[in-house]
Amino acid sequence: THFLFHSLQAKMSRPVQARRLEGIDKNIWVEFVKLAATYSKVNLGQGFPDFPAPDFLTEALTRALGGGNHMLHQYTRAFGHPPLVKVLAQFFEKLLGRDLDPMTNVMVTVGAYQALFCCFQALVDEGDEVIIIEPFFDCYEPMVKMAGGTPVFVPLRPNPPKDGKLMSSADWQLDPAELASKFSEKTKAIVLNSPNNPLGKVFSREELGLIAELCVKHDVLCISDEVYEWLVYDGKQHIRIASLQGMWDRTVIIGSAGKTFSATGWKVGWVVGPDRLLQHLRTVHQNSVYHCATIAQEAVAQGFQRELMLYGKPESYFVQLPKELQQKRDWLVQSLDGVGMKPIIPEGTYFLVADISPFKSDVPDVPNSDEPYDSRFAKWMVKNKGLAAIPLSAFYSEAHKNNYPNFIRFCFAKEEATLKAASDILQKWKQEKTSS
Ligand code: PMP
Repeated sequence: THFLFHSLQAKMSRPVQARRLEGIDKNIWVEFVKLAATYSKVNLGQGFPDFPAPDFLTEALTRALGGGNHMLHQYTRAFGHPPLVKVLAQFFEKLLGRDLDPMTNVMVTVGAYQALFCCFQALVDEGDEVIIIEPFFDCYEPMVKMAGGTPVFVPLRPNPPKDGKLMSSADWQLDPAELASKFSEKTKAIVLNSPNNPLGKVFSREELGLIAELCVKHDVLCISDEVYEWLVYDGKQHIRIASLQGMWDRTVIIGSAGKTFSATGWKVGWVVGPDRLLQHLRTVHQNSVYHCATIAQEAVAQGFQRELMLYGKPESYFVQLPKELQQKRDWLVQSLDGVGMKPIIPEGTYFLVADISPFKSDVPDVPNSDEPYDSRFAKWMVKNKGLAAIPLSAFYSEAHKNNYPNFIRFCFAKEEATLKAASDILQKWKQEKTSS
């Protein structure tokens, strides 16, 4: 027909890509997730547990499915299923020591990813600068750019311990003068991620105090990504920057049920903050995704009700999970140290960054290549040894990708058998090296 003829002929020749996507079309996860799927025998790359989510959570989902409330299969309130925003408000009232309104101080999102997207879209304007602390969860940079903002990077700098001890994530610190120098009239927001992915750094009260002081002085917002809030080790405490003087009014707290309840595939996240900020996030959310799966929200609400009841008790998942993960961390630290791949001991999260220097002779460098060495190394390792990890350069901006070429990130939220298999691969590799 006439119509068919036209559609066959009409090839488009105009550029189709919106300008806001320029320079952000390459993505590390697309590449490394595919490499891991193709080659890995043991995957310590992407951040997700390979152990089951807790029974109380999966049982809550089963109950929601079969419990006779067929309305749980329909739309719910756009800004969060009422039972979930209510229990989140109760929980955060406890954590923050202030009254919260579930309808205006909490919003449920499709994972922490969408919470971040709402923040940048709602709060960052063309020409605004957003300070990002390096190394950082990689999506902050493209999200700032898509909003028309300019990312301004400030590094955590390592201070190697003198006495031959292993480095800790606490040895990576901001230089106060350098941080202060990044704040200007153009600064709209700073992104804080504590506990930090990829290093596992848990910012101290002094460090948070410094950031808070600068935010107040320059009237800057704080986007506080706290998805690893419960994963803190060695008796350390996660401090919420929103609880520091002058910060509640200018901070959006971001969380994730995926990380909190070991169910990353559910994609339930949230924001907590003052209505004067959240009202704008609601506008973005309403006009983009509308809401997150009702039934997943219902089950997460029940998970939080359980945790509220058991708060601080030994049976609490938020107490048990970090205990188990700390053991896994220690185990991976030992096996990496044993083969000479020096780990930086993380204070929090389920990630660990390790120094690959002793294994470099197996993976030739290519001078003047566009690709950072650690990325080449991680690709070689998954293809030749079957072990997947993520290069540290993935967590640096383009200009700084070659700053620390000898580190890769492992995820240790894995079954013992998985961690053992990883350790076996590394030991065998080391033996081959010493005997050749
Ligand atoms: N923030 C950080 C620091 C993360 O590491 C991740 C997940 N890797 C997210 C946000 C996204 O979380 P979600 O899966 O809930 O979207």
